[in-house]
Amino acid sequence: MKLKIAIQKSGRLNEDSVKLLKDCGIDIKNGLNKLKAECENFPIEVFFLRDDDIPQYVEDRVADIGIVGENVLYEKGKQVDIVEKLGFGKCRLSIAVARSENYTGAASLDGKRIATSYPALVQKFIDANNINAEIHEISGSVEIAPGIGLAEAIADLVSSGSTLFMNGLKEVETILDSQAVLVRNQQLGAEQQDILDRLLFRIRSVKKAKNNKYVLLNAPNSNLEEIISLLPGMKSPTVLPLAEPGWSSVHSVLSENEFWDIIEKLKNAGAQGILVVPIEKMII
Ligand code: ATP
Ligand code: MG
Repeated sequence: MKLKIAIQKSGRLNEDSVKLLKDCGIDIKNGLNKLKAECENFPIEVFFLRDDDIPQYVEDRVADIGIVGENVLYEKGKQVDIVEKLGFGKCRLSIAVARSENYTGAASLDGKRIATSYPALVQKFIDANNINAEIHEISGSVEIAPGIGLAEAIADLVSSGSTLFMNGLKEVETILDSQAVLVRNQQLGAEQQDILDRLLFRIRSVKKAKNNKYVLLNAPNSNLEEIISLLPGMKSPTVLPLAEPGWSSVHSVLSENEFWDIIEKLKNAGAQGILVVPIEKMII
């Protein structure tokens, strides 16, 4: 029995999806250019597909699970469950208009044409804002639509905004914030669910490790208590005596988002020789 996972064949999600499986200790065999690949050390079979097709394939159980952007998932409206947000493939679906346009809110789109590859999500936005705009569905290079007179506005995926800028457009509304998610078929059998749980345990360990750093520092014993109070640690920090009397070595784990804050406080509390080390996996 194997769990079938669908990932993007090529494109922006492919590399991170493959890397995630790799970080989970899963070796994908026989190259990445095939439609299907086996894995030697984990009961999983990988299907490489167009990202647009992944929600459908998971709903139909051609694949049991899949990795896809929320943007595609919500656009397609397929019946699958989101199991985990994966923290990569971050982007937003935004509305943009010509930079010269005087945009004052959604009402400015009234009577306008919006070019997009996301008709369902844009229609929801139009309905929610009670405006009268016409959707022009196109499959690619949406950003050129205003320039060639196809539409006055576009709705497209943005990350840095440089594509919009280069095409003389400005971002005026965000319809959706998106990232890659792991989805599953709603009727997995017990055995598949078991494999998924094992995979999920690994994915969460990888994600946690990415968000945390291992920190080692030297502390004067006189300030040890204060320094320890600054450090959360997985249980509590490890404290070892240094060869030099009056000093200790303190080891702990810090999460990325509080990292710099705590490092500054540690320095002020007299910590020295602070070493920060990446964590490969974190099992708790
Ligand atoms: P496919 O050939 O599989 O259909 P595609 O051309 O539709 O690929 P890509 O451009 O590879 O799609 O993007 C795949 C996904 O990557 C998007 O659906 C989105 O979830 C995510 N993504 C992240 N950042 C961006 C961005 N700046 N622009 C477009 N997509 C992005
Ligand atoms: Mg696609």
